[in-house]
Amino acid sequence: MADLMTMLTTNPLAKQLGVPQAARLRRGRELPKGAVALGTVGGAPRLTRESLELLGVQVQDALVDTPATRVTETTEDGRTREVPAPYEAKIGALVVDATSATSIADLETVRGLLRPAMKGLEPSGRVIVVGVEPESAGAPTAVAVQQALEGIVRSVGKELRAGATANLVRVDLLTDTPTTATDLASTLGFFLEGRSAYVSGQVVHVGHAAEGRVAEVGAARPFEGQIVVVTGAGRGIGAGIAEVFARDGAMVVAVDVPAGGQGLAAVANKIGGTALQLDITSPDAGRRIAAHVAQRFGDSARIHTIVHNAGITRDKLLANTDEDRWGSVLEVNLAAQIRMNEILLDPALPGGLDDGGRIIGVASTSGIAGNRGQTNYAASKAGVIGLVWAMGADPRLAGRGITVNAVAPGFIETEMTAKMPMGTREVARRINSLQQGGKPVDVAETIAWLSEPASAAVTGQVVRVCGQSQIGA
Ligand code: NAD
Repeated sequence: MADLMTMLTTNPLAKQLGVPQAARLRRGRELPKGAVALGTVGGAPRLTRESLELLGVQVQDALVDTPATRVTETTEDGRTREVPAPYEAKIGALVVDATSATSIADLETVRGLLRPAMKGLEPSGRVIVVGVEPESAGAPTAVAVQQALEGIVRSVGKELRAGATANLVRVDLLTDTPTTATDLASTLGFFLEGRSAYVSGQVVHVGHAAEGRVAEVGAARPFEGQIVVVTGAGRGIGAGIAEVFARDGAMVVAVDVPAGGQGLAAVANKIGGTALQLDITSPDAGRRIAAHVAQRFGDSARIHTIVHNAGITRDKLLANTDEDRWGSVLEVNLAAQIRMNEILLDPALPGGLDDGGRIIGVASTSGIAGNRGQTNYAASKAGVIGLVWAMGADPRLAGRGITVNAVAPGFIETEMTAKMPMGTREVARRINSLQQGGKPVDVAETIAWLSEPASAAVTGQVVRVCGQSQIGA
């Protein structure tokens, strides 16, 4: 059934009344239809052009707004004004390589590149700015300028309309292990394609992966023949994650509690995966997952990705939260995955996590911003973020080519959010730059990008899938 706001916005009067209109988002493995324009700040493009070429994306030069390039436009009331020379046809994306930006004058070039694109993007268009890690930029002004890019991108995300998004990708260029065009490609591909529909205003770091770790970029089915375990796969976001991995070639092991067995079997059947009825809080959960993998796929089989998606809420004000409410949420959402990781990371365990494998956590914007009535949940989800930071920086995991990342969904349309009181739900749906709730597939696509073999250089990242929600922004 259409939600209340959608019903209101389909009323012809709604637009006149100024009710925000939710755009239909471009989703899936689709590049923008329009051209991809590339602009460079402070020197020659470094990685970006080569990275886009690896993806098979043809680029055109971006327009730059300067007093010399402006044209005169007549407004409806007959007055004239100067505006940037427009793109001949709407562009699909603007990519700005700002990796060489070091001065305040360079920020003016960023403005000059962005201005013509603000009205020149097709629906669901993309703005992607590529910078370097600020602390690596050297002189204080250069650090400030690189950090300024974050303020620009987050504001642009809030100004864009019609489903367009803006994101910042930071690379390493000034370290001993600089990011290469191959390292960067899977991330640029994700942000250009419809897979990133509900990700805006985000900052993602792409480092460098050891030679041979970065598999072929741009593969249509990057998980062909790989084993992927998804917990809480019987419904909601977990079912969406299982479907996307299966679409992209994975053999999915769908895990859920025995009570959710019916939904679990339906999901596993639909995607041709296997179902494992298991409460992840049981002490032997990790071993049972490994045993299931070894039994189904053979003793030498190993897991490529484990997605820790299973989660629960037990909301109450802290004044009314007893140890059961507290403990059950921390147990399912955090402690269980710590235990499972420890077991599955044993290189000698048949059916454990493979070298070059992926661990994905599912956090929440509540874990970033906190939420009234959700102290237990926010503790568990903030804990997931801490875990990702710690494991993403662990040289033993890096040595095995294992990456650890998390997504932090905002408002996603599932049974969990359907239980919210109507007023709260409507507000949660709308207070983001895309003015709508996300879908399970949006979370799933983000997880799949982080899990791709080609994303070996992305680790320790927490990516919000929240339409640039104002919560915790
Ligand atoms: P959901 O309640 O619809 O599904 C969760 C699934 O996890 C269920 O199938 C449930 O049976 C399973 N599960 C719960 N406890 C389990 C256990 N002990 N062992 C095995 N399986 C168990 O929830 P959802 O909305 O699909 O959320 C999925 C994840 O995304 C959760 O971690 C949730 O916290 C997170 N999240 C959701 C939203 C949202 O808007 N829906 C926002 C932020 C984060």
